[in-house]
Amino acid sequence: MEDVIIIGAGLSGLSTAFQLKKAGISLKILEAQNRLGGRIVTIYGNYQTPMEMGATWFSKEHKHLLQLLKELNISYFEQHTEGVALFETMSFEPPQQYFVPANTYSAYRVQGGTYSIVEALYQILGKGSVVLNTEIVEIVDEGKSLKITDSLQNDFLCKKLIIALPPQLLINTIRFSPALPQAVSQVMQKTQTWMSGSSKFSVEYKKPFWKENGFSGSVYSQSGLATEIYDHSNFENTKFAIKGFLNGSANHYSFEERKDKVIAQLKHYFGNKAQDFESYNDKVWNDKYIQSINVTFLPPHFNNGHPVFEESFMNNKLFFTGTETTHIFSGYMEGSIIASNSIATKVSKIIKK
Ligand SMILES: Cc1cc2nc3c(=O)[nH]c(=O)nc-3n(C[C@H](O)[C@H](O)[C@H](O)COP(=O)(O)OP(=O)(O)OC[C@H]3O[C@@H](n4cnc5c(N)ncnc54)[C@H](O)[C@@H]3O)c2cc1C
Repeated sequence: MEDVIIIGAGLSGLSTAFQLKKAGISLKILEAQNRLGGRIVTIYGNYQTPMEMGATWFSKEHKHLLQLLKELNISYFEQHTEGVALFETMSFEPPQQYFVPANTYSAYRVQGGTYSIVEALYQILGKGSVVLNTEIVEIVDEGKSLKITDSLQNDFLCKKLIIALPPQLLINTIRFSPALPQAVSQVMQKTQTWMSGSSKFSVEYKKPFWKENGFSGSVYSQSGLATEIYDHSNFENTKFAIKGFLNGSANHYSFEERKDKVIAQLKHYFGNKAQDFESYNDKVWNDKYIQSINVTFLPPHFNNGHPVFEESFMNNKLFFTGTETTHIFSGYMEGSIIASNSIATKVSKIIKK
């Protein structure tokens, strides 16, 4: 039997594990996918350009994330914004140009890619700490322990369980026996999952031709498939890419259609060189690891940080964490770390009592 099991190897699960390990508590993480990181996905293009399909930016206000980066010895750098930015209201009118002076935009990115955080945490936790391809479907209170069952009917036993999944996803995918109080499951059903349903794209280039022509790479469009576009060159300025968000219609198009539309849009803003790209990638965030079926539309951050997430269940054996469980910077990486630090402190105190 494990002392602690954590479900979910996203930033919340991994940083909770990191804090528990520092407190000398043994644990295991169970993860449904064949990869770590959850909403953190850094891909590498033909020229090894790191491109973020998930979490990317943070600010100096994200003190807990900055502290973690310091502890893990990970560097960060400022988002490039210098040059002419574009604002497009209608497809048949030329985009308006405006100038953003350097250093007015305080967004930062992780050097080498956001996945460096995941990698560094995993290195510290050790290889045996995470079991991949383990999709949890049931949790049963057996008195002294909790029995956790995955979709292949494998069982795991633990004294304390921390679930690090978006609340709306977990309440729709995991059966609890006995059931969680109705008031709690109702809140979870109505807790918005940050960025669920969003889409991101990245296009890798050999040269930053947009910068050479005085463009920052930033575009805000109310008419194109790509709604926000940014320069995505690396810290060293040796690898180059453009990346951004697609609008809500993205999942109605095939990958090839999205690619053609995005390249045509970039050509419209930055000229013919936009079609000489090295690689195109995108990700629509609507798979079963972030979004359950029959989701209803909820306003951003709705019910995030609700007091029910502070409570423990199944006689002080079951706890929740995850970026949606905190009311401070909920949805963001900072929220994940705030929630994880707090639950790790709480659980380690209970165990050491
Ligand atoms: C497109 C996009 C852009 C973003 N941009 C930013 C940004 O710029 N800045 C920022 O700060 N944040 C950003 N975020 C948010 C950031 O990624 C999240 O705040 C953070 O990564 C959430 O971590 P988490 O561990 O709480 O949840 P998740 O990362 O969602 O982790 C949950 C984990 O649980 C696993 N899981 C799901 N179901 C099961 C199951 N049944 N059994 C076992 N495991 C399961 C999942 O596979 C996943 O690994 C972005 C997110 C997305 C998607």
